Amino acid sequence: MKKQILIILDGLNNTTAQEKMGFMKHLEEFDIAKKEAVTASLPTLSRPLYETILTGKEPYEHGILHNNIVRKSNEESIFHKADAAGLTTAAAAYYWISELYIHSPFDWKKDRFQLEKKGSIHYGIYYSDDEYPDSHLFQDAKFLMDRFKPDFLLIHTMNIDLNGHLYGSDSNEYSFSARKADTILSEYIPDWLKEGYDIIVTSDHGMNTDKYHGSCLEDERKVPFWYLRSDIKGEFPAIPAKQTEIFDLICKQLKL
Ligand SMILES: [Zn+2]
Repeated sequence: MKKQILIILDGLNNTTAQEKMGFMKHLEEFDIAKKEAVTASLPTLSRPLYETILTGKEPYEHGILHNNIVRKSNEESIFHKADAAGLTTAAAAYYWISELYIHSPFDWKKDRFQLEKKGSIHYGIYYSDDEYPDSHLFQDAKFLMDRFKPDFLLIHTMNIDLNGHLYGSDSNEYSFSARKADTILSEYIPDWLKEGYDIIVTSDHGMNTDKYHGSCLEDERKVPFWYLRSDIKGEFPAIPAKQTEIFDLICKQLKL
């Protein structure tokens, strides 16, 4: 069993990932990471695609077809399968993840810290403001890592998506938020690889110059997918071509 960290950088298109993230490129050149562009499912919207990544089902199958469908998932997610297998799960993520896998709707005053082991995500810290700094989110993730040593950890940022909506994918602000995420990754990833975690870094959907996403245009649909291996002598697994295959890959690595 290979412990897994899944990092979703919300709203990062493949073009920006390819051009602006020097640390991730360094891992590729150093043969620690393997990168491909993955085709996101449609519509390229967040809540449907969190569910797609975490359950392996297409939006038409799982029924979360837009962002305003606020209900618990009806599918078996990676969290459920890991929980059933006796593994420990955790998430530092946007509150929609709590709504999908813990309970809906999210209570902003009560649900931010969920550190009592219950539900399929055993330990969670959730934010509800898109401006919550990615740097602080990774501090939350590190707390969960150090305290609970999860076998599967989801980390999910929002600042790249936010700047895409405010300024467009051709803006300096969007580009800077990707560069900043790259630097934050460089702060944490080396330690987590040393601790024996394999790490996936990807995105739910991309972003366009019109400050939005949802369609089938290249910059909205092509997202980066990096697989980082903790064992440099080991083999890379087959990299998914489609977003629905990420679920199978993580389940396989966790031996679920
Ligand atoms: Zn968005």
